[in-house]
Amino acid sequence: MLLKDRVAIVTGGSSGIGRGVCIEFAREGARVVVADVQEAPRRGKYHEQTTVTPTVAEVEKLGSKGLFIRADVSDEAAVRDLMERTEDHFGGLDILVNNAGIHIPGSCQGLSVADWDRVVGLNLRGVFLATRFAVPHLRRSRAGRIIHIASIHAFGGGGGPAYAPAKAGVVNLARDSAVELGRDNITVNAICPGYIETAIQDYLTPDQIEECRRRTPLPRLGLPKDIGRACVFLASDDASWITGVALTVDGGWRARV
Ligand code: NDP
Repeated sequence: MLLKDRVAIVTGGSSGIGRGVCIEFAREGARVVVADVQEAPRRGKYHEQTTVTPTVAEVEKLGSKGLFIRADVSDEAAVRDLMERTEDHFGGLDILVNNAGIHIPGSCQGLSVADWDRVVGLNLRGVFLATRFAVPHLRRSRAGRIIHIASIHAFGGGGGPAYAPAKAGVVNLARDSAVELGRDNITVNAICPGYIETAIQDYLTPDQIEECRRRTPLPRLGLPKDIGRACVFLASDDASWITGVALTVDGGWRARV
């Protein structure tokens, strides 16, 4: 087991990618805190239509220990409380996965300023908040790990005026924190997923999803497990000298000119 007895927090762990990360961490022996605004998994129009069991139940089926903590990651007090409750329950913290994120479609003229603030407030400010309040706990781990879930939208336009810049910011936040926290033996990396089959895709049309399938060189779209396994690698001892990188996990999408 690659993560035996480590303690991990996964934000947005009730659904989609975060849920996939929690399950793969549990498979590798980690104890997992599922931090989310609601415990029930989000069911999508195209993907995850039949997902019903809470993530903690899946973690426990795998013989590991799980804990759900209700937390809005864009709320400073809630994030501070999340770290303290994790420490009280599991006696420490080794891994933070900053996964919670939203996408609100809209153009520069169409997206309201309030929605811009919501997207950046969770997708970038929320990542900063969780990092800030996790670090004092991670400093006490023998192998602290922070993993941000960014996006291939970090590298180009087309994701909207809030989502794409927030994700680009997350990649550079990982680099900045990697420089700052290296001496504490804490690694900080980002994962940039391509299309992953989760409920976040509900805003697309079936034709747009087919176009994503066509543009992905590998013969399938991504699954939460694909990101979960990449997180296991970055959290494990195998990645102990990797910090400040953005690992693209996209079935080859960005490889195309
Ligand atoms: P989902 O919508 O499936 O899951 C996101 C989870 O985060 C949900 O459980 C959601 O709860 C929760 N959440 C929403 N707001 C908050 C909050 N304020 N505090 C805590 N939890 C919250 O999305 P994905 O799994 O697809 O996305 C996860 C991450 O991966 C996001 O950062 C996304 O940007 C990124 N990503 C996803 C890609 C994809 O193709 N799926 C591609 C690239 C990046 P609720 O359901 O109640 O809203």
